[in-house]
Amino acid sequence: MSLRKSPNSRRFAWLLALALAASMLAPGAAAQTDEGLQENPEPAALVEIHVADQTQLDRLVATGADLTADVEETADGYTITAVLTPSQEAELRAQGFAVGDTLQSQEDIDALRSERAQTLQSKSRLTFQTLAESETGALKVLRADYFEGAEGEFLSVEVKSEAGDDDTISVSWDAGPGTEIGDGGTINLFDFVDAGVYLYHRRQFSVADRPDLIEVSSSDTGESVTLGVVEWLPLDENGNQGGNSPYLTDFVDHYMDPSEVTERIEQLAAEFPDLAEIIELPYQTNGYRRHAKALLGTVAPNAVVVNSVAWGHEGGNDLTVEFADPGAADSPLSVTVTGNDIVLSSATDTSGAMVTTASEAVAALNSLTGDLVYAHTYRGNAGDGVIVPEFEELTDNLSAPDHISREPWTVKALRIGAHRDGSRLGVLAYAQEHAREWVTPLVMVETAERLLRNYAHDGETKRLVNNLDIFIVPTVNPDGGHFSFYDFNFQRKTMLNHCDDSLSDPGLRNNWGVDANRNYAIGSLFDGYDGASTFCLSAVFSGPSELSEPESSNIAWLPDTYPNIEFAMNTHSFGNYFMWSPGAYSVPGRVTLPRPDFGDEAFFWAASQQILTAIKEHRGTVVTPARTGPIADVLYSAAGNSGDHLWYDDGIFAWNFEVGDAGFQPPFDDEGHDQALEFSNGLIELFGVAHRFDTDNQRPTSSLEPGNGRYDGPVEMIFEASEPVTIFYTLDGTAPTSSSPMIQSAGVREGAESITIFETTTVHWFAVDAAGNVERNYDPDGNANNYNKATVTIDD
Ligand SMILES: [Zn+2]
Repeated sequence: MSLRKSPNSRRFAWLLALALAASMLAPGAAAQTDEGLQENPEPAALVEIHVADQTQLDRLVATGADLTADVEETADGYTITAVLTPSQEAELRAQGFAVGDTLQSQEDIDALRSERAQTLQSKSRLTFQTLAESETGALKVLRADYFEGAEGEFLSVEVKSEAGDDDTISVSWDAGPGTEIGDGGTINLFDFVDAGVYLYHRRQFSVADRPDLIEVSSSDTGESVTLGVVEWLPLDENGNQGGNSPYLTDFVDHYMDPSEVTERIEQLAAEFPDLAEIIELPYQTNGYRRHAKALLGTVAPNAVVVNSVAWGHEGGNDLTVEFADPGAADSPLSVTVTGNDIVLSSATDTSGAMVTTASEAVAALNSLTGDLVYAHTYRGNAGDGVIVPEFEELTDNLSAPDHISREPWTVKALRIGAHRDGSRLGVLAYAQEHAREWVTPLVMVETAERLLRNYAHDGETKRLVNNLDIFIVPTVNPDGGHFSFYDFNFQRKTMLNHCDDSLSDPGLRNNWGVDANRNYAIGSLFDGYDGASTFCLSAVFSGPSELSEPESSNIAWLPDTYPNIEFAMNTHSFGNYFMWSPGAYSVPGRVTLPRPDFGDEAFFWAASQQILTAIKEHRGTVVTPARTGPIADVLYSAAGNSGDHLWYDDGIFAWNFEVGDAGFQPPFDDEGHDQALEFSNGLIELFGVAHRFDTDNQRPTSSLEPGNGRYDGPVEMIFEASEPVTIFYTLDGTAPTSSSPMIQSAGVREGAESITIFETTTVHWFAVDAAGNVERNYDPDGNANNYNKATVTIDD
């Protein structure tokens, strides 16, 4: 699908792709010459690059380096943050670029991973703290809350038993201070089992009087524990909030991998069945899995790459391959397979020297029956070097623990709303299109928890959940996400390799995949737009065609399936940006996708103020005006991004966050945690913007200034309005319609254009706000004449 595609655009895209591929920095291609083979990717680091001016910045972009969104204008040019390997850094230095400080090195990442592992180890499966426990610890009381509401007095008790759901847990309570335990009553708790996993026992039940003490008993061990109850959300004598803040926040306490995040939203859906449900998105990803590989050889001409036909975890990792010297003259080339072990015995000459070349070894391995392995030469080499004796075990090089699934992955959305039937305005929030942006799924989890856990007692939350239909997709790219957590932290793209044999050796495994935010169908590379690449190793690889990948297809599917979605937030990191369409332009000429109508643009700006103020409230973080606006104005072109797809294809008010200003994986405690909380503030405020938009019945008013009257000569006029509006007008005395000229923005980041009137003219116009309310209830397609009129008389 394309928008306003010029006849030449396909040819142009092809030329552009060639140009990009030719100038592309070979990712991590440390040594692919006779000096040796690249067995493993080089480590990467986050580093700063300084350039003197825009021309140098464009030159840097053209190298294909993996630049982040963090572009800082300085007194003497620009500072850009990039992910570079040592050889890429050396290559950029050789091209004259000033490479400066390292912001995050491999040691920093190792420290972060071990900190996360420690946090996970010290946590129970549940994030609640234990209130009290029995003598042996087999019985843990997680919560015992009393509360009084409109419907009476209740106790809510949650207990975890070591015996799991087989245990029968009973609770007895007194009838107030000084009474006996049991005087109030006794009840059995329900076990809470989700997806076959025991979570805890729980029950909420009514009580006649506020209990002072309760006793929790286990039938399994006979143990019991006595404790006092606490009041949930107490009010003071005036009916205002008591000691506890009624609005609960701060539900994230470590970086969560895609498995944890998915498990968390499933738990939330199970815990709040009246308010939330899981939507399984239809396009499964390939999964966190790869074929096992081995690289044999010493230099490119004698090197052979051996690939398992099975996935690594399904047997590929068990294979071994050996190139053997038969130790005898005039031996023939032979291959034998014993179980999982492949032995290729080289041919020898009359002196007993090995003579089998890499290409002959490849042919011999590929002629094996049984579909065990597939071999090819190294990076397209002809393979005429003689192989050397070597033994290798094949490996998929995947390091995630066993509990991370290796199967195709079903991406899930958490749908939140009291009325999830399409009757309410829909809002879509999604994150982790880019795998390495670890804070972004936490923004989603934090926001979901706030909506569900504050619903019962917070009026504003209740308004949002009752009136909106919210879809939260915390991890769009789970395979890449797992790879980023456990294998290569700087992974940006999806995990599936689209490269051919010449770029599929294990040394390049950190550079495969598709940029999920360059694979959409509007303003794409295939339509001739800039900021994506056809090169399969590029950080901004567009994929083979628009929406070729399940990750992007899932997001595009949501508004097609739920047409009530009218607002969206695409959450990325980092740079502290807040952006909207257009997000792409074509070169030459920097021709952007069509700009929003002036009224819509004004609505984007007005909403920004509200959302960014909410972000600032957490700890004073200011998203600056310079980093607020259309992507193409404040950042750089991003062909085929999801925000443009949602805005141009689905008419959705689509925004983009770039959260934080401290790298993709800042330390959690000092920084990542706060970023999640502050941008959750912003996301909640977006829901407020959407709800106010939905209930906006206020008709706009507008005026022409200076307007009616006699003037000596040409006069410049502007329209003023009561709120962000689009103005439709005529100057020929006819009635204005929705196809009449619109007042446009005067230029990039400027206000509305003015009109200059040279001769006596009757101006007719009406205003429409972003919610579609028309001034004076005028019907632009009807016959009424209740539009605005002004007569401007020019005396010669
Ligand atoms: Zn991103």
